[in-house]
Amino acid sequence: MSAAQQPARRDLARMLAQVLAWDLVVIGGGATGLGVALDAAARGLSVALVEAEDFAKGTSSRATKLVHGGVRYLAQGNLKLVREALRERAILLRNAPHLVQPLPFLLPVYGARGRWFDQWFYGSGLMLYDLLAGRQRQGRTEFLGADAAVHLAPGLQVRGLAGAVRYWDGQFDDARLALALARTAIARGASVLNHCAAVGLMHEGGRIAGVEVEDRESGRRLVLRTRCVVNAAGVWVDAVRRMDRAPRGNLVAPSQGVHVVVDRDFLPGGHAILVPKTEDGRVLFAVPWLGKTILGTTDTPRNDLAIEPEPFREEIDFILAEASRYLVKAPTRADIRSVWVGLRPLVKPPNEDPGDTKALSREHAVLVERSGLVTVTGGKWTTYRSMAEDVLAHCMANGLLPGRPPGATAALPLVGAPAAGERPLSDAPGLHLYGTEAPMVQSLPGAQHELVPGLSEAMVRFAVRYEYARTVEDVLARRSRLLFLDARLAASIAQRVAGVLAQELGDGFDGAKSLREFGQLAERYTRLPPQAAQ
Ligand SMILES: Cc1cc2nc3c(=O)[nH]c(=O)nc-3n(C[C@H](O)[C@H](O)[C@H](O)COP(=O)(O)OP(=O)(O)OC[C@H]3O[C@@H](n4cnc5c(N)ncnc54)[C@H](O)[C@@H]3O)c2cc1C
Repeated sequence: MSAAQQPARRDLARMLAQVLAWDLVVIGGGATGLGVALDAAARGLSVALVEAEDFAKGTSSRATKLVHGGVRYLAQGNLKLVREALRERAILLRNAPHLVQPLPFLLPVYGARGRWFDQWFYGSGLMLYDLLAGRQRQGRTEFLGADAAVHLAPGLQVRGLAGAVRYWDGQFDDARLALALARTAIARGASVLNHCAAVGLMHEGGRIAGVEVEDRESGRRLVLRTRCVVNAAGVWVDAVRRMDRAPRGNLVAPSQGVHVVVDRDFLPGGHAILVPKTEDGRVLFAVPWLGKTILGTTDTPRNDLAIEPEPFREEIDFILAEASRYLVKAPTRADIRSVWVGLRPLVKPPNEDPGDTKALSREHAVLVERSGLVTVTGGKWTTYRSMAEDVLAHCMANGLLPGRPPGATAALPLVGAPAAGERPLSDAPGLHLYGTEAPMVQSLPGAQHELVPGLSEAMVRFAVRYEYARTVEDVLARRSRLLFLDARLAASIAQRVAGVLAQELGDGFDGAKSLREFGQLAERYTRLPPQAAQ
């Protein structure tokens, strides 16, 4: 369907409510919900998905950007999760090569113990990682001397460096992968709507029969009638469960993770660094991403579930202090271009106070309530596809959905994936749209007008016409990733982006509100908690 033929945004929620009964309504448009919607649509079921904010606005735009088996879970002995994630890594690399690429990592070791013990210890663990990946491994694990390590990662602290272990994993653009899932689900017949919240559940005879939604743009409330509801609201699943018949206790123990972004010259060379054991026993990553360096993350229990959580002072101090031990050029607060915070929806052990969230499992859980509400939470971005298969298996086993065989998504290329033999455009660092969409951008008005290097006026038009962007934030945070890479730069072009949105959306766009909200958000992404008194 061309942009001109698309129904007006204001009519979409009403059109969803006109369907007599959906097979499935999904609540939440992050990795988990979008994965479920895509799998169900690919099996021929009728699906509607509502997302209260924007696709990937929650945790799914704030990952460390790794498509990985999880070296840390290997250390915890969770081989089942590692094997599953490595299998999913291979599937993602195949189905979305425009958004997911192999990435080499260095695990540096220091001092005499480093050479004789740590390198052997971590190296043999990473060889096991290769073994678990089998034929799907991305590259061979190797032992490197100090000179070779610094040659590959010139930013690495050379003082005391004994050597490194080099291994391979995957890297992706999380928010754009979420968009690709939304667009692929739509291409398979799903109806997917952002800025539309589930505000209530409708029951008949004690069973869920519909979802009441509120279109955040028009303020209208409507009911979507359905056979089955999947609650994939991330750390907010318990709020949705409370709309059902009062369940006991919470399913989620949220844990906060902070990242800071600094310039590329802190880690030139294209290799990521994994610090396997920080002072307090966590792992820390320094990762090259879209022309910058991401440093993180933390793992702090958190119970207030803000959509934009703020970092704690200790978290910023921890990341900078640890990064300074491993990088020649020590990053300071003044070097931070953007700081963002995500909440992990970790599965809470029954009847327990989670206390230390580092130790909680990263596996997912699916819970089917008596009313028929199906809740899914936990897991990782990397495993969204296998989680979706598990969710649908639960729905079918409980008679909530008609039986259809699994496997519909294992070999399903996502929208934007290059055709066979074509090279993904995203090989080059910087901001860009991906894959086969690029020629379409070139033909839109404003293709020559760059707002910042790599982001043109035409890309903003593309984001509105083909990627469901409705606000300045949708464009600058998740269609382009500028807010996450350099929040001040993003704020500096917000006005011009708003101008293009006004042309594209006409009366449907409240430019003053959108600009004000984005200004406040960009300020948050640059604001650091005060330093402790010296
Ligand atoms: C710091 C950090 C780093 C991570 N790094 C990685 C990594 O490198 N690799 C990896 O594989 N995994 C990583 N993860 C894990 C991964 O990001 C999450 O497991 C995943 O994004 C969770 O997705 P989700 O869809 O369950 O939740 P979310 O992305 O939060 O999606 C839930 C959505 O539901 C919406 N919603 C809530 N209530 C309603 C309602 N009433 N109506 C409609 N919509 C609603 C929200 O707006 C939100 O968009 C990381 C997590 C964190 C926090």
